[in-house]
Amino acid sequence: MAEKLALFGGPKAVQHEDEDVFKWPIITKEDEEAVLDVLRRGAMSDTDVTRQFEKEFAEWQGVKYALAFSSGTAAIQTAMYACKVGVGDEVICPSVTYWGSIAQVYSLGGTPVFADIDPHTLCINPKDIEHRISERTKAIIVVHYLGYPADMDPIMEIARKYNIKVIEDVSHAQGGLYKGRKVGTFGDVAAMSLMSGKSFATGEGGILVTNDREIYDRAIAFGHYERFNEKEIETGYLKPYMGLPLGGYKYRMHQMSSTVGRVQLKYYDERCEEIRKAMNYFWDLLDGVPGIKAHRPPEDSGSNMGGWYAPHGLYRPEELEGLSVTRFTEAVRAEGFKGCHPGCNAALHTHALFNTCDVYGHGKPTRIANASRDVRELDASLPVSEKIGTMVYSIPWFKHYKPEIIEQYAKAFRKAAENYKELLKDDPGNPPMLGGWHFFRHR
Ligand SMILES: *Cc1c(COP(=O)(O)O)cnc(C)c1O
Repeated sequence: MAEKLALFGGPKAVQHEDEDVFKWPIITKEDEEAVLDVLRRGAMSDTDVTRQFEKEFAEWQGVKYALAFSSGTAAIQTAMYACKVGVGDEVICPSVTYWGSIAQVYSLGGTPVFADIDPHTLCINPKDIEHRISERTKAIIVVHYLGYPADMDPIMEIARKYNIKVIEDVSHAQGGLYKGRKVGTFGDVAAMSLMSGKSFATGEGGILVTNDREIYDRAIAFGHYERFNEKEIETGYLKPYMGLPLGGYKYRMHQMSSTVGRVQLKYYDERCEEIRKAMNYFWDLLDGVPGIKAHRPPEDSGSNMGGWYAPHGLYRPEELEGLSVTRFTEAVRAEGFKGCHPGCNAALHTHALFNTCDVYGHGKPTRIANASRDVRELDASLPVSEKIGTMVYSIPWFKHYKPEIIEQYAKAFRKAAENYKELLKDDPGNPPMLGGWHFFRHR
């Protein structure tokens, strides 16, 4: 006999809370000392520590060049510039991602073309890319969304066929693997956030990695004025402009971030390994429970979830007689996991910024002003993206393998799913919008 749901007065599945299992980032004396050293030296705006961090990060990533930034948003904007995205150009991007993957394209005079996501990976659907390509398409931005490695093989094949650059946004998946190889090494360039909410957490910051010298030089030229000089630039056509940043931006990383980055990098792989062990244990406990399914690659694929940033589960209401994810998550919250909410990032193509907003005073929507065709027509319907809010819910992001703690949380999900018939009675259904533009709650 199943236990009574906490929603109806039964005992909660989560009886013992454990702050430590969720705490992130892990900050030790070593991080503190590193920050104090920068502070005491008055080296906050220098680049000595940052250069060291870049060198170590590039080595760890397995690429030739790394360039650190004040934010992931800046790194991604620069990656676009480095790929020669400019006035009138189109960039293909999944609609379901954080805005920092794409919104900066307006500032370069370009416009996004949104593609749909795959309902299992939640990453850009490789089958939904090719028909969106035009002679103005300069780049495809691939997001390894919520840690799941995007299907890079077919994406690279399409990009090579049309001679289009690929930018990987690795903000959710630092250190993750696709078929045994690190994400961030497939595209022409990768850029990512390293802000403190991400699995690779330094404070505010971002980083760009590439094997391509021209891309690296263009990235320096755009927003790293202090390095845009004879000593550091090889690309000849950039040389007449050395000294001032071509973008008019100042994007170097704060050294209190890069110094934390150096310490975090030393422990990153082992900490992620423990996260993966904990998260996989959670999902293994729920294997076969109706209505809920892990968002993770098959075990034998050689792919993994990196640091499992912002983990979500897939929802299958058809296995629960149509129970809404709204009602399901309410029951899980009542069981003691307050961080269970429906949805993730809402589909960007539905936001006014990408439909009606005139950001720069063109006298028409920027989306149109920056393009040579009405690209809004291309994303009139992206069926998976548009229902993403009803397809996923947040799950606990365990940082430590503590089986007895994890088992309670798994039980919360199991109870809600197995008792779904009782939940059907007062199911209010889903509201018109689930998820949000920029927040994740996991506690
Ligand atoms: C966080 C994030 C960014 C932006 O990074 P910031 O460091 O916050 O500027 C870009 N893309 C994705 C997918 C992100 O999650």
